[in-house]
Amino acid sequence: MISENLREVEEKISQACLRSGRDRSEVLLIAVSKTKPLEMVEEAAGCNQIDFGENKVQELCMKYEHFPTLRWHMIGHLQRNKVRQVVDKAFLIHSVDSLRLAETIEAEAAKINTVARVLLEVNVAEEESKFGFKMDQVMEAVEQISKLEHVHIHGLMTIAPFVEDPEENRPVFQKLRQLSVDIKEKNMNNVNMDVLSMGMTNDYEVAVEEGATMVRVGTGIFGERDYSTTAKIGE
Ligand SMILES: *Cc1c(COP(=O)(O)O)cnc(C)c1O
Repeated sequence: MISENLREVEEKISQACLRSGRDRSEVLLIAVSKTKPLEMVEEAAGCNQIDFGENKVQELCMKYEHFPTLRWHMIGHLQRNKVRQVVDKAFLIHSVDSLRLAETIEAEAAKINTVARVLLEVNVAEEESKFGFKMDQVMEAVEQISKLEHVHIHGLMTIAPFVEDPEENRPVFQKLRQLSVDIKEKNMNNVNMDVLSMGMTNDYEVAVEEGATMVRVGTGIFGERDYSTTAKIGE
């Protein structure tokens, strides 16, 4: 089932690349395995899937311990008191949503003499329920965070609204892309804008058409999530 799903997602990414004149190699597929058991991670890894996404620190750490050679992406809201646990395990932190969080990452990364790779999360649609910088706060945040020696900004991330028709999210993806272009033009030290992490199961094809370089697909690979059992994971 997982191998078939992966093949289907792969095919859709390829088609979206083709439609938009992009090369398939420009888009990295992140398999979002949150709430899913180790066996399913193993099955996906057996299909040469290398990049996995988790939104909870505890679960990311637990899965990292089992599969340290896979690349674990932190995609969920990160509390400052949990930074220490993930800073040496997360391949990329997609969810930097405040200067204070970036400063905590700086402090923890410095302690272990590493440079943390991060994306800034942008709440493009300004939804109350979501974390992330507002569009008009991002430039200032990038300028501040770029001064931190143990944090390197690689790009931007957004979680688009839940919509019935993925076309509704096209303007959201276009805005994030344009923002990354605007930032890139400033040529700031220690800032790179190569990554645009956008698109989930419902809308990743549109996101790829609009320039996503990372798509985060959970349900489309692992099936629906059952939150009634998540309390057991990682215990
Ligand atoms: C859960 C999650 C995803 C994957 O969602 P699906 O709709 O299952 O593909 C992607 N990004 C983030 C930040 C998530 O929390």
